[in-house]
Amino acid sequence: MGKALIIGAGGVASVCIHKCCQNSDVFEEICIASRTKSKCDALKAKLDGGKTKISTAQVNADNVDELIALIESFRPDVVINLALPYQDLTIMDACLATKVNYVDTANYEPVDTAKFEYSWQWAYRERFEKAGITALLGSGFDPGVTGVFSAYAMKHQFDEINYIDILDCNAGDHGYPFATNFNPEINIREVSAKGSYIEDGKWVETEPMEIKRVYDFPEIGPKDMYLLHHEELESLALNIKGIKRIRFFMTFGQSYLTHLKCLENVGMTSIEPIEFEGKQIVPLQFLKAVLPDPASLGPRTKGKTNIGCIFIGKKDGKEKTYYLYNVCDHQECYREVGSQAISYTTGVPAMIGAAMLLTGKWNMPGVHNIEEFDPDPFMDALNQFGLPWKESFHPDLVE
Ligand code: NDP
Repeated sequence: MGKALIIGAGGVASVCIHKCCQNSDVFEEICIASRTKSKCDALKAKLDGGKTKISTAQVNADNVDELIALIESFRPDVVINLALPYQDLTIMDACLATKVNYVDTANYEPVDTAKFEYSWQWAYRERFEKAGITALLGSGFDPGVTGVFSAYAMKHQFDEINYIDILDCNAGDHGYPFATNFNPEINIREVSAKGSYIEDGKWVETEPMEIKRVYDFPEIGPKDMYLLHHEELESLALNIKGIKRIRFFMTFGQSYLTHLKCLENVGMTSIEPIEFEGKQIVPLQFLKAVLPDPASLGPRTKGKTNIGCIFIGKKDGKEKTYYLYNVCDHQECYREVGSQAISYTTGVPAMIGAAMLLTGKWNMPGVHNIEEFDPDPFMDALNQFGLPWKESFHPDLVE
């Protein structure tokens, strides 16, 4: 049916590529392009021989001209950006210049300020619309499936949704005292930032990890979770009718938090460059270099993730609660595609989002967040491609 150019060859890209190959009727041809070509070649070597034709390329995704040259030579129908959030705008620029659809899993963040928001990407709306191409923003799990869950709840269960709590639980144990499950630099920037949530149309800011709750997760049990700022809060508060409050919580174990505090206290999580032996280095980037590569956690990680949304709203004039979630097992993911569940729960929706555009099931020129599209075909595909969802009409609520 079509051709996809996948940029990045890390943990998430690896899963997405496996899944494109499982969906070869839609993904007839893919090109894996990243900064380090050997990683692309290793993925090709692992997956070659199936129905999906695979090629590889070297690209610096910070460079728009290089991206344009690559897109013009491969001529994809969609570009799936699975590099880092820093590359979102250059890849969008290249897609605009070549009139190709765009998909990503994380919103733009400038390298020198730990601040992420949609404004930079939303500024491309008119240009994408005029070019007749679609940018699908945030097609991972959170953001991503959490937005699809919200659109599905709105379409099938509610007349209005007043409260959403997004709960992200990773009960996996990799056996290291400290490691991150996806890119350490992006992960630490996210969790060491101030927390925030939206109430009555306004952002309320908290200190990092200030708000803690305990939640008894289905199929996992009680876990400590902390309120974080998260990017989908911004778009869901605009796109879901009737929202009064929306919050995001993520679970963290005590060992992770103690290590993080210590690293922060000694300055290792700073993104301010320092002079070291005559060279400028960024402490957080140095820390990334000494931490375990998230891709290496796959064989060691045991346990499950549970990510989902609790909705409170109204249906036919009555108050109603509804919980949609997915439970994913780290070891089952590893057996299937050689990756742990965090990469898996992101890579599968990235493939599905691209498939929605390739098949024409989703077609809305402009720059759009995932909850703006019809959730039904995406929900079906989640069941088909390894992330089946469950629902509960009487969930425990978060205080
Ligand atoms: P990794 O660090 O494992 O992979 C990133 C890949 O991008 C690497 O292959 C890297 O190349 C490549 N890359 C980085 N910079 C460039 C560049 N300038 N040009 C070309 N390639 C580049 O990250 P993950 O796979 O863990 O994460 C990928 C994305 O997914 C991130 O944006 C992350 O924020 C997002 N994510 C989203 C989630 C969601 O639920 N929505 C959850 C988890 C992650 P090299 O090998 O040379 O370093």
